[in-house]
Formats: sequence, C-alpha cells, structure tokens
Amino acid sequence: MTTGYVFHPEYLWHDTGTSAGVVLANPAAGIAPAVHIENPEAKRRVHELIHAPGLLGELMIIEPRRATVAELLRVHTEAYVQHIKTQSDLHGGGDAGDGYSPVGHGSYDIARLAAGGLIELVTAAVHGDITNGYALVRPPGHHATADAGMGFCLFNSIAVAARHAQAELGLARIAVVDWDAHHGNGTQAIFYDDPSVLTISLHQANCFPPDSGWTTENGVGEGAGYALNVPLPPGSGHAAYLHAMHQVVLPALNRFAPDLILLANGFDAGVFDPMARQMLTAASYREMTRLLIDAADRLCHGRLVAAHEGGYSPFYTPYCALAFLEELAATTTHVTDPLAVVVAGYAAEPLTPQQQAAIGEATQLVSRLHSRVTTS
Ligand SMILES: [Zn+2]
Repeated sequence: MTTGYVFHPEYLWHDTGTSAGVVLANPAAGIAPAVHIENPEAKRRVHELIHAPGLLGELMIIEPRRATVAELLRVHTEAYVQHIKTQSDLHGGGDAGDGYSPVGHGSYDIARLAAGGLIELVTAAVHGDITNGYALVRPPGHHATADAGMGFCLFNSIAVAARHAQAELGLARIAVVDWDAHHGNGTQAIFYDDPSVLTISLHQANCFPPDSGWTTENGVGEGAGYALNVPLPPGSGHAAYLHAMHQVVLPALNRFAPDLILLANGFDAGVFDPMARQMLTAASYREMTRLLIDAADRLCHGRLVAAHEGGYSPFYTPYCALAFLEELAATTTHVTDPLAVVVAGYAAEPLTPQQQAAIGEATQLVSRLHSRVTTS
C-alpha cells in the first residue's frame, strides 16, 4: 500500500493580501487591515509537520502540473476561466466573484497547479502507482461553481479531477465526501443533475454559504437523490460527526458503490478554527479517516484521494492533518496532539437530540438512494 502526496511551494504564493477578517479593511469603518484569513500559514505548517517528523519519506511524492484550459472547461465556463485569468493578470490582483475571494497576481497559474495536482494524484491512484493520496493544495475549490468563484475558492479542483477521471481514466461512478465545516455548494451545483457523481456534504448548518446545504437539496432530474447534505448544528463534535459517518456517509457509499472516493478535506470543523463553530479534534479526523479508508478498501480498491480545502487555525489544523495522513498511510510519527488533553471534554460531548434529528433527516434520503440504485 502506497500513499501519494502532492505539494508545491507555489501553493503558498497565492497572495490573498490583507483584510479585516473576511471583509475589506476600511479606514472609514475604523478597522485596520490584517493578514487575510485564508493565508499560507496553516498550510505551510501542515507541510512542515508532515516533513519534520519523517512522514514525508514514507509517502510517494507526486509532482503537480498545471491543469490545461481544456481540463478546466470540463467543469467551468469559458467566461469564468477567462475572468480568473484577467483578474490574475492585474498588477494588484482582483476577485473571483463574490468580493471575498481574492485572486492574487499570478493566482490563475497557481489555481491551475492545484487542480492539476489533484488530476495527477487521481491518475496515480487509478493507474495503481498509489493506493490513496493527499493533495495539500491552495487555493481551495469546493465553493467554486461552474461560473463563479466564492468563499476563497477559484477553480473547483475536485470537480475537475472527477471529470478527468471519467473522461480519461475510464471511471464511471465517483463519490465526493466533503467534511469541510462549510457546505460544498460548488461541487454540489456542478453535479446536481448528474447521477454519476454522488456528493455528500457534512457541514455546520447555515454557516457558509448562508442558506445553503439543507437536507432538502437532494439533486434534480437524473441526479435526483445523488446530492446528500447533513447540516449539523453549531457545536457539533466527535459524537455527531461519527454518527453522521455511520448513519449517512457509509451507507450512502455502500449503496452508490463508487469507483473512486474523493474527499474535500477541510479541517475547519476543528475545535480551534476561527471560521466555524464545530468541535472536532485530531482524533476525530483520525477516526473518520479510518472509516473512509475501510469504505474505499471495500468498494474501490482503496482509492481515496483527498484535496485540502479549509482549515484556518495555524496551530491546530496541522495536528488534524497529520492525524489524517498518518491514518491514510497506515503509519505513525512520534508527534501526538498536545492539545488532546485540553479538548478531551469537548470530544466526549454526547450526541444531542438536535444533532440526531438533523442526521436522521439525511438518513431517510439514503434509503431512497438505495432503491434508485438497486432498481436501475
Ligand atoms: Zn471551510
């Protein structure tokens, strides 16, 4: 078993500039500029925590390349790809669409390198060079729709890689599991009418985008039933996420029987993250990863390929990512989560009736997915 790893220094060069939280700093509003919240620091520290204790040496390094325009156009509109290029060519950069998604000078090429990195990782998995893998890419992608960037996302790398796998690698059915704290709205929208790609998003209810990711968003047309959402109340932690994995994610994967599982791997449901209010620990990510590995082993030759999405705590995201990657590569380093003792009480938080109800609603939809698949 071999685990692939994609990283490139350019991922840290995507320049998001300054802001005040997620909004523009504005002297008239009396707020000083600070480093943008989606900045390289958490990602740099993830890579260093993989490198320093020797884990990097146990991984197969997969070199990224830039996705071609033709590869981007399998997902995005021509006008949108051109928009990102135009913004990127500006000396001071621009924005991908919603006013909160900076495009730095040169970010067009970096975003292509992120999507192309994931393409290369998926290709290596399908060719059997690796069993599974992790692409520590930046900028993130899961909020980007076909024709609009949002939520710090430029190109939807996971969607581009999924379409590449179908068009070039002979895969038919692809499942996207998204456990970023925010709704994977872009990926959902791209595949909303497509039964060949199942999207499952676990996220904080009504967080970002606002009013998005409800259980009622279930796919349309041929794709009806193939979008699943588990909007969890703020404060959901280990028990709720594990319950959602067992009640929704695993049964849905079993019924869909994918050829490949792609993971939108956000760590912003971590307990110290500034961008959401969920309570996962490194141990939670480890356990959730174990479940996905088992599912991939059972269903698709172990093919579980992850793309880094959110995760904004520079000091805690790295421990969550390390736990994820140790589990993926079936190895351990000498590094343990030093904050585990601090958050032990949070992780022990029992399942609440509200969490149970939210998960229960999504569970109902899984049984409908079952009947669709078995009768088709
Ligand atoms: Zn997020």
